[in-house]
Amino acid sequence: MKPSGQLIEFLDRNPLPWLRYDSEKQKLIMVVDNHLMQTYRACPQHYVFGNLHGYAPKSPLHVDNVARVWFLDFGVILHKMIELYYREFRKPGFDPNAWAIERATEEWFSMQMDVHSEHKEYKLIGGLMGFIGLLVQFSVVFSPQNEKIRIIGQEISFGKRGEVPLHIDDDVEIYLSGRMDLVIEDGYFIGPMDHKTMGQFRGDPGLQFETDEGPTGYIYTMSKILPQIVPEDQFLKRDCSKILMNLISKKPTTTPQERFRRVPVRKTIYQLEQYRMRMVNTAFKLVEDIEALAEGLPVYRNTSACTNWHMYPCKFRDVCRQGSKEAELATLNNGFIKAPLWDTEAVAPTT
Ligand code: SF4
Repeated sequence: MKPSGQLIEFLDRNPLPWLRYDSEKQKLIMVVDNHLMQTYRACPQHYVFGNLHGYAPKSPLHVDNVARVWFLDFGVILHKMIELYYREFRKPGFDPNAWAIERATEEWFSMQMDVHSEHKEYKLIGGLMGFIGLLVQFSVVFSPQNEKIRIIGQEISFGKRGEVPLHIDDDVEIYLSGRMDLVIEDGYFIGPMDHKTMGQFRGDPGLQFETDEGPTGYIYTMSKILPQIVPEDQFLKRDCSKILMNLISKKPTTTPQERFRRVPVRKTIYQLEQYRMRMVNTAFKLVEDIEALAEGLPVYRNTSACTNWHMYPCKFRDVCRQGSKEAELATLNNGFIKAPLWDTEAVAPTT
């Protein structure tokens, strides 16, 4: 895919953190992650508004001029508490109650989480007391299981240094980026371990992760990185074919055990190669769409997602329903701000 002069000029005028033209190599360099690819696949128009132009809705909730969004804030605080737990739980003086009560309270007030007190999930969890309860239960349920694993690394980022190539040819280099919560060893295999929150468990909560591209990407990544860091005599550990997913129900349950699941997800070499090719295929389509934009053409709109964007109305629906270019721009200028573009190496928590 040779980039046109129009595309190179477009990228010069609109610098993107995940796509650039390297004039020395005379190649496009693309760094993609699961979030980018999933957004693009769900609706290219949404991707253009959010990830190419950086439009984000003005949040109705602000504290000291900072927009506050419950899902982001809850992801950050839970992720931080889990990170602290895995850093400390093996140390002799670790006190799970001090972690779950004192430290969580400190973090909760420091993040002013009570600004979300009217959010329905805040109420579902039960505010600070409910959050403490969730952490106590997390420790009770997972600590015995964690005794069987060895933590090899935490918060492992990969991406722009080209650790995980997806495709390299004469015109384009495509790399995968992301950040893994943990890399663990269970005695036989080394692999990633991730955490996901769900509103509540319905049926088998692990089923959706069998086809989810995110965990597959982590397995793919480890399968590329491991042979470089594990000696050849440890042949079992040089292959990565599974991820451990820790699933957390935000909705309280009758017993702590019902609120958490540790689910292994396995992938064959065939599945990993199919994943790689799907990512490359999507990345090529994305570049084609940017070429189209550079020529002044519109991109595809997935109108079946307008009223159901992850179970909510799409935030750009009011823009897409306008009758003229001017009205679209006016709607964007009135209801949205320009936020920093998603940087595929500055990955936000995934909980
Ligand atoms: S409103 Fe519909 S077409 Fe427009 S960006 Fe959202 S999902 Fe895409």
